[in-house]
Amino acid sequence: MPLFKRVTIVGLGLIGGSLGMAMQRRRLATTVVGLSRKLATLRRAKARGAIDVGMTNARRAVQDADLVILATPVDLIIPDALRLAHWMRPGSILTDVGSTKAHIVSTLDQRLPQHVAFVGAHPLAGSEQRGIDAAQPRLFEDSLCILTPTQRTDPRSLARVKRFWRAVADRVIEFTPQQHDRVLAATSHLTHLLASCLTLTADSTPLPSPPPSFLEMTRIAKSDPDLWDDIFVTNRVALLHAMDRFDHQWQTLRTLLKRQDRAALRRLLARAQTTRDALD
Ligand code: NAP
Repeated sequence: MPLFKRVTIVGLGLIGGSLGMAMQRRRLATTVVGLSRKLATLRRAKARGAIDVGMTNARRAVQDADLVILATPVDLIIPDALRLAHWMRPGSILTDVGSTKAHIVSTLDQRLPQHVAFVGAHPLAGSEQRGIDAAQPRLFEDSLCILTPTQRTDPRSLARVKRFWRAVADRVIEFTPQQHDRVLAATSHLTHLLASCLTLTADSTPLPSPPPSFLEMTRIAKSDPDLWDDIFVTNRVALLHAMDRFDHQWQTLRTLLKRQDRAALRRLLARAQTTRDALD
């Protein structure tokens, strides 16, 4: 039995399109509506089985929805939420997939009209690709989804969004928005910056065929700057802390190398090895 009658996905790119496909596969909604500014995206989303109905009119797309999922770039989530919420009916739920949470959740907690319940979410799945053609129905399988409820989150709406994500992703956990941003700064956002730095560092010494380790570590430097600058800037406080911690490790490593302190270097590398092994 579908969890929702009518779900509207706003932004049919990699994440929104994949979510539509996953919902159709698992029959989580009776009708999946897609809202986009481009007819071409709607046509492609329908052809790829991500949506049942495509609309460019925002009001019509959300007015009968039980659940509206915002899957546009991070800096559009707040303005989209505030614009669309007025047309949503009482009791309907608004959620998002944005990669940063503290700013989005605190703003929407304060500024959304009372009749709409908001639940922040971030599925940890994706890639450096963008757009509906990159969408995949199994993108969220084996992945974790972080929900970021606050004291203002309606418990029934949270339970419904949790059921929804449990049906799509492998695991669902709850963090505060601040915890989410700290953890993601240190893992995802810092990793993206490092991939870009590493790529730029090697820029002046190109090899005809770079080593696999270089390609593996720098794949995400191919991510679209238009999507990632929003993420870095909205999460800059946590990201700057993560960069400071990285800088400390880097300087330690540098000193050991300069001193040719092999024993200390081995200890540091062994600690990293054990930590990384534990992640598997
Ligand atoms: P994407 O593939 O570029 O999709 C973004 C969608 O938003 C597209 O459908 C695009 O519509 C629409 N859009 C872009 N700019 C717009 C504008 N100015 N006005 C109206 N619509 C616009 O990006 P994505 O990777 O799916 O990311 C979407 C959200 O998911 C972001 O908030 C991101 O933080 C989050 N997220 C991303 C990942 C990841 O790995 N990529 C993982 C987890 C969460 P058109 O087709 O009309 O251009």
